[in-house]
Amino acid sequence: MPRIHAPFFSENAVDTPYWWEAAKPQASNTDELPAHIEVAIVGGGFTGLNAALVLAKAGKQVCVFDAEAPGWGASSRNGGLLGPGWAFFDTGMAYGPDVARRLVQESFLSLQHVKDVVAREQIDCDLKVVGYFRGAMTPRIYDKLGRDIERLRQAMPCDAYLVSRAEQHQEIGTDLYHGGIVMPGYAGIHPGKYVQGLASAATRAGVRIFSNARVSDLHAKSGGFTFRVREREVAAGQVLLATNGYSAALHPYLKRRIIPVGSGIIATEPLAPAVMDRLMPKRRMLAGSQRVVTYYRPSPDGTRILFGGRVLDMSNREKVAVANAKYIRSLLLKVFPELENTKLSHYWHGQLGFTFDHLAHTARIDGMFFSGGYNGTGVARASWLGHKIAHQMLGSDLGKTVYSDLKFETRPYFHGKPWFLPLAVGFYGMLDKWDQR
Ligand SMILES: Cc1cc2nc3c(=O)[nH]c(=O)nc-3n(C[C@H](O)[C@H](O)[C@H](O)COP(=O)(O)OP(=O)(O)OC[C@H]3O[C@@H](n4cnc5c(N)ncnc54)[C@H](O)[C@@H]3O)c2cc1C
Repeated sequence: MPRIHAPFFSENAVDTPYWWEAAKPQASNTDELPAHIEVAIVGGGFTGLNAALVLAKAGKQVCVFDAEAPGWGASSRNGGLLGPGWAFFDTGMAYGPDVARRLVQESFLSLQHVKDVVAREQIDCDLKVVGYFRGAMTPRIYDKLGRDIERLRQAMPCDAYLVSRAEQHQEIGTDLYHGGIVMPGYAGIHPGKYVQGLASAATRAGVRIFSNARVSDLHAKSGGFTFRVREREVAAGQVLLATNGYSAALHPYLKRRIIPVGSGIIATEPLAPAVMDRLMPKRRMLAGSQRVVTYYRPSPDGTRILFGGRVLDMSNREKVAVANAKYIRSLLLKVFPELENTKLSHYWHGQLGFTFDHLAHTARIDGMFFSGGYNGTGVARASWLGHKIAHQMLGSDLGKTVYSDLKFETRPYFHGKPWFLPLAVGFYGMLDKWDQR
């Protein structure tokens, strides 16, 4: 296992996801590749596997191709915060109140969708409804969170509530925040086990999953599509592109619309139960209100803290990994200064797919289907939209979703390389500091 060295890492620390200790993405079948298939799905994460399940259960012959292994991408690297999200309500208002309301409704449905799939397919993935606390960095932000709840209640029932700074220690052992918001319906999940369970369920339903199967040279041919995998040409009646943050090399349309953004997570060594009880008394999913995002949670067994934040450099060099981990650790220590002497056991990163309107999209691209651009909230949304896009492929009304009604835009200055990210992160960081002045 690759190791990582720095004074703040334990001796056996590794640069692979904590989740892989229990559920490492496994290379799947080594069968010979078929020459013709009914449905090809490119990408074996939450999107691709949720779609594969629906299509196979509807009687389609489905093959999933993953360049690495099922779940290797963001789906086994994320924080496992399973919720409807929050900020997209504001973002959706750009399309008007009706779209914003539909976005919120589908967000809650997406959370329920994951619960349903996990129950139906009997996936053992530590799914627990523990709720979510988002800490306000300033009193002004705390007031705005209160107004957001009121606004949401005008559109639909909403059980979110505010927790004042005076009561904050019942939620989290920090004085960093000026109170915050609780969303009780939020859940935590073990994403590695979830994606592995999805792959097993899809296989049981008849889906053939191919690992080390990078798809290239995709184009339309004789009423269907052809592409290359492992030096062979494969023909498919329908194609779903489910590569999200890893899409750039696959299709020029996506290269100009999906912005690959890095996010990294550190895990601490196990902490004493009394420390966990003090820092995370309700074992909730947690985040701060900053624009430059921080998100964190206890491990599913409640023994350690997993803490995530933005990383700018996604190279796999040890020096870069150590620098990324050091930065994320500095964010952890702002929340929990008492962890100064706690060592880290893991650091890893993965690629998110952002979009210019900060919303997910389902689309038709040269006749192929696409779902992605989850902007860092894909555990629920990728699962939901994977299932929606599959229904669209079946020609069913069940495929209707607000995410198909949004304009999927690019910008003249973007051709796949997010050169503007350091500027954007610097700018948002400045606004965060300005808020706290
Ligand atoms: C560090 C991190 C933390 C996150 N935390 C959260 C969180 O707490 N909550 C939340 O809701 N969301 C979170 N997310 C986002 C969430 O993980 C993603 O939105 C979601 O996993 C996307 O799933 P997907 O199936 O669309 O893509 P992925 O899981 O990224 O899968 C894409 C797959 O496509 C494959 N691929 C790429 N190109 C090709 C090709 N040419 N041929 C074949 N295969 C190819 C890749 O190997 C990969 O396995 C996080 C993401 C990261 C990286």
